[in-house]
Amino acid sequence: MLGSVVVGLGIAGCVRMRDLAAPLPSSAAEKLSLRGFVSRRTLEDQQSVEQITMAEALSRADIHVAFICTENTNHEESIRQFLEAGKHVCVEYPMTLSYTSAVDLWNLAQQKGLVLHEEHIELLTPDYKQLKKDICGRTLEKGTLHFTGGPLKPNFGFPSFSGISRLTWLVDLFGELTVTATSLVEEKENKYMKMTAHLLTQQHKPLTWIEERGPGLGRVKRIDLHFQDGTISELPAGQREPVGLFMQDQVLFGRKLQGDVSAAELQAERSRILHCLELADRMQQLSGGAQA
Ligand code: NAD
Repeated sequence: MLGSVVVGLGIAGCVRMRDLAAPLPSSAAEKLSLRGFVSRRTLEDQQSVEQITMAEALSRADIHVAFICTENTNHEESIRQFLEAGKHVCVEYPMTLSYTSAVDLWNLAQQKGLVLHEEHIELLTPDYKQLKKDICGRTLEKGTLHFTGGPLKPNFGFPSFSGISRLTWLVDLFGELTVTATSLVEEKENKYMKMTAHLLTQQHKPLTWIEERGPGLGRVKRIDLHFQDGTISELPAGQREPVGLFMQDQVLFGRKLQGDVSAAELQAERSRILHCLELADRMQQLSGGAQA
């Protein structure tokens, strides 16, 4: 068994605590056993385990794995600390807020022989899985992905990083992309922002990614994808699954810890993640390095 600690008890951290306390039976998730949690607040026991300090989490011999579920600005430092302390890490996306720091951390994990896993539950949703099936084998002509949502909380980074799950969809569906232009409209007083990024596929087909956030904007993803043989303008409704998204991710992480994921699969995943972070970096640069 690998003793685990959860750092940051927000929305994601609480789901991690719940799933670690009751892993999917007969799955690789059972390899992980919850030993404690770290929070900035002082909290009572959660899921029958107690709050510990960061120093304890880093030094305790019975803790082998850390789940980093804090705001994005904090990920890089926490990952580095746990890797330096010889612990495996599962971090909620995005791993970091720069491409170079992610490369650095991945190299550190490799040197130490540790698993560094970045969660991507957006690739596990039934609707996404169905969309991927519907698109398979079709030739893209042009497309748009427009996300809207409420104002972003502080410390989640530039929109190309905080919205990396949308970018990951585009890369997972259409392969490596090039950024040609990015613009950012920001009205701080109205808590409104809109990032528009223009991308090209390797076949030089245009894709537009829009992240728009502001008060009263519903959490919605709109797609408009044109193929040689037709158009998809609504997300398909996939078949609901009995296993939750974070649990599916925990099973994948558990399989990595057991050495059950092939080197080719790990390499493909690493390339995709780093490519997305590199694109996100480029978008931030092209928009003048502004901080949304
Ligand atoms: P959240 O704001 O609800 O939770 C963040 C928590 O981290 C807060 O409770 C905060 O107090 C705590 N925290 C911050 N710094 C800390 C520190 N140094 N030590 C201990 N605790 C600290 O945010 P969230 O929605 O749970 O998102 C957390 C991470 O999960 C983000 O990286 C986000 O991108 C990712 N994520 C979230 C979801 C989701 O459904 N909410 C899905 C996928 C990925």
